[in-house]
Amino acid sequence: MTFDTVIHGGTVVTAEGQFQGDVGIAEGRIAAVAERIEGGARRIDAGGRLVLPGGIEAHAHIAQESSAGVMSADDYLSGSISAAFGGNSSFIPFAAQHRGQSVDEVIATYDARGARSVIDYSYHLIISDPTPEVLQDQLPRAFARGITSFKVFMTYDLMNLGDAGMLDILTVARTHGAITMVHAENNDMVKWMNRQLAARGLTAPKYHAISRPELAEEEAIHRAIQLAKLVDAPLFIVHVSTARGAEIVRQEKFNGARLFAETCPQYLALTRDDLDRPGMEGAKFICSPPLRGADTQAALWHHIAQGTFESVSSDHAPYRFDETGKFLNGADAPYPKIANGMPGIAARLPWLFSEGVVKGRITAEQFVALSSTNAARTFGCTTKGQIAPGMDADIAIWNPETRRVVTQADMHDNMDYTPFEGMELQGVPEIVMTRGEVIVEHGSLKAREGQGRFFGRAPVDPRGRQGYLAPEFDPAQNFGTVLR
Ligand SMILES: [Zn+2]
Repeated sequence: MTFDTVIHGGTVVTAEGQFQGDVGIAEGRIAAVAERIEGGARRIDAGGRLVLPGGIEAHAHIAQESSAGVMSADDYLSGSISAAFGGNSSFIPFAAQHRGQSVDEVIATYDARGARSVIDYSYHLIISDPTPEVLQDQLPRAFARGITSFKVFMTYDLMNLGDAGMLDILTVARTHGAITMVHAENNDMVKWMNRQLAARGLTAPKYHAISRPELAEEEAIHRAIQLAKLVDAPLFIVHVSTARGAEIVRQEKFNGARLFAETCPQYLALTRDDLDRPGMEGAKFICSPPLRGADTQAALWHHIAQGTFESVSSDHAPYRFDETGKFLNGADAPYPKIANGMPGIAARLPWLFSEGVVKGRITAEQFVALSSTNAARTFGCTTKGQIAPGMDADIAIWNPETRRVVTQADMHDNMDYTPFEGMELQGVPEIVMTRGEVIVEHGSLKAREGQGRFFGRAPVDPRGRQGYLAPEFDPAQNFGTVLR
């Protein structure tokens, strides 16, 4: 057998275990994994290094307009380069439908944007306007294309679907085998809090955290799960930021719900105190759900270690600290008019490795599961997320000893700040490959614009989750087998 590349002498880590061995790559795929592999047009010495499946970033906003009309700072070129420097071989950003748009038009728009990516990509579809045409024709067409995850919002007036709209989406998704992702915060609680704060003139960035109470997330997570259970549909809760929210997820999973969830580094690395930095600097830390307290960080780490979350994702939502992003509505805008979101696609994995693996909170195997393998399984990336023969050669070679301080320059994105600035981390992805081609090597970019490919995904795999069938909702008995 001839190999294009052999990665030699490293410690291969999978979600299940680790071993000393070599990885042989041919035609973009992993062709062999063995104790020793000879040959290879190129041999990469991985002595002292960890050989991991390349990260899959399953939550990123790239070349996406917010519902308020603000374009994210990163397009598919800069966003994918930043992802690659952070140890990712592929990502699944969002393709966002805004009201009045057809899903077909949205996908065509993102196909044009995605063509610049240096890593492989797919989309989660955001649905904000579930018209009969969308539900009956456009979503099934998107699904047939391999877009097998639909995201909905319970908050933001221009995105929030209401419970009945969510049930419609959940039902269509279930019929086709798609998974519904949800941003869970109680919209009316947030709006009511906004009015109370505005009436008292409390509009500085720090009040953003007050305006979106932990209870708003906890209530919405609970409600979203009950909606999904009513129609026995798989559900993915994005960016869980509260201890109680995580507990609800854990309990419902234990009870058999077809439930998946993630949290994000910012809820573990930062607190609401960061929103109270001098002047308007707190605006850098405005994201939703908001940053919480130190006690929440400890609880979320516990849930990560115990398996409540499938993934730790970045929720990369890059809005610059200037009038193109955060301050589109003025340099002293009240917090509700400041763009929501922070960057993190390059920092996610180095931060999780350092704070998780190096500090002994999680194992290297858990790191692989949380950064890549689970996302592949949850979202149907059937050729990614594992180091095994036949899989895409999406691989990241990490030096687990290198220490560095996070700086904006190392993020390689289009941003002008990183919320992780100054943090000292240990562990660096030195070589990153997508389908066997080296795209980042020792801090320099080797990728070509547009070398990433769109990949369609398989239906969600609900095995191991028995589900819950509400007695009142029995599709076979009461509704016929196909729901509309
Ligand atoms: Zn997001």
